[in-house]
Amino acid sequence: MTDIFLKGYQWPFDPRKIPDFGSSLIDVLVYIETVVKGRHVFMDFRQNPLGGSFSFNDLEPEAFNYLKNSDALFGTPIERLQKMNPLAIELYAKNGIDLWQEPLEVAVCAQHNNGGLAGTLWWESNIRHLFPVGEVNGSHGVYRPGGSALNSGQVGSLRAAQRIAKGPKDDHVSREQFEKAALQKGDELFHIIKTFSGKIDPTNSAASYREEFQQRMTNYGSHIREIEKVEKALDEAYGQIARFNEQHIASREQLPFVLQNRHLVLAHAAYLEAIRAYLAKGGGSRGSYLVMDDSGQTVLDSLGDTWRYKPENAELRNVVLETVLGKNDKFESKWKPHRPIPQEESWFENVWGKYLKGEIFEMEGDV
Ligand SMILES: Cc1cc2nc3c(=O)[nH]c(=O)nc-3n(C[C@H](O)[C@H](O)[C@H](O)COP(=O)(O)OP(=O)(O)OC[C@H]3O[C@@H](n4cnc5c(N)ncnc54)[C@H](O)[C@@H]3O)c2cc1C
Repeated sequence: MTDIFLKGYQWPFDPRKIPDFGSSLIDVLVYIETVVKGRHVFMDFRQNPLGGSFSFNDLEPEAFNYLKNSDALFGTPIERLQKMNPLAIELYAKNGIDLWQEPLEVAVCAQHNNGGLAGTLWWESNIRHLFPVGEVNGSHGVYRPGGSALNSGQVGSLRAAQRIAKGPKDDHVSREQFEKAALQKGDELFHIIKTFSGKIDPTNSAASYREEFQQRMTNYGSHIREIEKVEKALDEAYGQIARFNEQHIASREQLPFVLQNRHLVLAHAAYLEAIRAYLAKGGGSRGSYLVMDDSGQTVLDSLGDTWRYKPENAELRNVVLETVLGKNDKFESKWKPHRPIPQEESWFENVWGKYLKGEIFEMEGDV
């Protein structure tokens, strides 16, 4: 009961919150129900757990004191929610879910993209003058303190704008080169649009095409990871990319959907390759995932021997994994040392002077 309570603010999934009945056990249990057993999981706000034998005195102090300080040691979960956060009930009501009348289906979802495209200190990618700002930029690292993601995206956007406005104005490609490349890409896209415009079929296999890679990521690329399964999933992912042209759309309005599928199916293979490379290097549980290992620590005694996980391999804190699309349209991964935390003394007068003269925006950084 304490874990169910803590799960309300102890997210995302964290392997450090598995031992001693930590709250991330809830995410493992939900995975077992939904993925392993193919069931659905609900939160029922209309009744307390354990029915008649529920007692607030059985809660651990953290949960008990929270409810006590909120004057909420009474009633059912929905009655407590009504007192502590009625807007939450309204939000669900606006989306057609009445928590007073029905249970709420739950699943584990990703809080952040921990990783992403390589970028410099200006959020500039390895393609010069292309700035992937926000969560798509790999600036989040393995852990991201809750509440700091939006700030990070905004700071990145500001820095990218400063660099674009005030940084070096080198033309790394001529206008002719750019036009030629853009026209070629435009033609490729036009060809895809034309092909799919003639592939209309109410069975709408583009939707099931998407469900296929979504389910693969839920099963093998989410918070529970296992090397053999990831290797197999990666093979299947490449197989699905090869079947891209077999999709049909329900109507022409679905053309953008199929173009999104084109990016998403490629991206899911990239993520699976990165996960595979990390596990193959001996990577253990960290960030927001658990790495399964027959000889590792038990998740929970009552779950039996199949649920064992490998602790973090701290050596891998010093390296960064980079994955690129290589030959034969297969992704390739390589390791490189992480950028050290800068040690130089930055004297205010000098830094401020450089800022005023705009020199700061000329600074280059590694991707
Ligand atoms: C449940 C939850 C709670 C969170 N709580 C907090 C919090 O309290 N504080 C905090 O700081 N952060 C929080 N975060 C994280 C924060 O919300 C995200 O980091 C942030 O919203 C990312 O912003 P973004 O603009 O980079 O990406 P997004 O908001 O994901 O925007 C990307 C956009 O690109 C669109 N897109 C994708 N592919 C294509 C394509 N091929 N063509 C066209 N468009 C495309 C998507 O539809 C989307 O609209 C939370 C995240 C989650 C999931």
